[in-house]
Amino acid sequence: MVASVFFPTSHPGAPPRCRLCHQPVTSGHGDVCDRPLCQTRLKIEATAETARRKEAKEAAWRAMSQRRTRKVLRQAAKEIGVPHLGRIAHGLAPYIDMPQVSLSESRRAAFVAHLNAVLDKGFDDTDGVPTPPETDPQYTTRLAEEAPEPMVLNAACIACQGDCCLMGGDRHAFLTVETIRCQRWKDPSVTKDALRGAFLSRIPETSTVGSCVYHGSQGCTLDRPLRADICNSFQCPARRDLAKAVARRPGTGAVVAGLSKTHVSDPSAGAPYLRVVSVTEAGDVTVHDHLRLPALRNSRTEG
Ligand code: SF4
Ligand code: SF4
Repeated sequence: MVASVFFPTSHPGAPPRCRLCHQPVTSGHGDVCDRPLCQTRLKIEATAETARRKEAKEAAWRAMSQRRTRKVLRQAAKEIGVPHLGRIAHGLAPYIDMPQVSLSESRRAAFVAHLNAVLDKGFDDTDGVPTPPETDPQYTTRLAEEAPEPMVLNAACIACQGDCCLMGGDRHAFLTVETIRCQRWKDPSVTKDALRGAFLSRIPETSTVGSCVYHGSQGCTLDRPLRADICNSFQCPARRDLAKAVARRPGTGAVVAGLSKTHVSDPSAGAPYLRVVSVTEAGDVTVHDHLRLPALRNSRTEG
């Protein structure tokens, strides 16, 4: 016989019992009592439910987006000589389509003030001259041991046009004191003025509205070695998914549909939320500008 735990049930007229601790509910609302442990468990339940709903919504969006972009991905693959989508790494990416604008005086001033502040602190040697951190994986192990990424992964970022860089607007290109100290670890002879000049000289004529000052029309204008660590190491889920697809089909190139999150709000054919990009294994990049988003139809009729 299987042993079971017995929890007393409420008798008619008896106070209701908490569904979590099974003690009588003497105060509070609903079926959970006010005891701190039960309230904590209730909050955990609510958080888990919110996460589950978010995940389900995301999965539904993704499935719908994959159906809607399948034809254009197939077509882009054909255009670079790959007859079947199954023979090339492919995927989705975010897509932003925002205008380029000249940097306003106020934005420039705010960025320069931030740059000067991190430079001052990064060159403040009251704690001693910075030395290379031997155990810091961000700056030594990672740089020394990681294999370079396949070039075809850039298909995601070219299709996307820098969704993650939007966060670099308020955060001033993610430049921090650590960024400056890292530059000094790499080149102990570099001066504050030289670094200031290097950062200022890379600001493009125009950058994406509301985004990072370095977010130019062709992507980031700051040389990789000068960028904050996060700018070289961040991989959004779409890029990580493409990396997995590339690992499954190495040597095939990649084709990616950059798709705006809000494409579902416009089911019409040709809705302007798409940018399809292919990159061959040899590194040839094609932006398939003529490809248009098909209509968003009932899931059973999309193909
Ligand atoms: S990492 Fe992701 S969000 Fe950032 S530019 Fe690339 S595809 Fe876009
Ligand atoms: S520095 Fe370059 S990679 Fe970093 S947020 Fe700005 S535009 Fe993006």
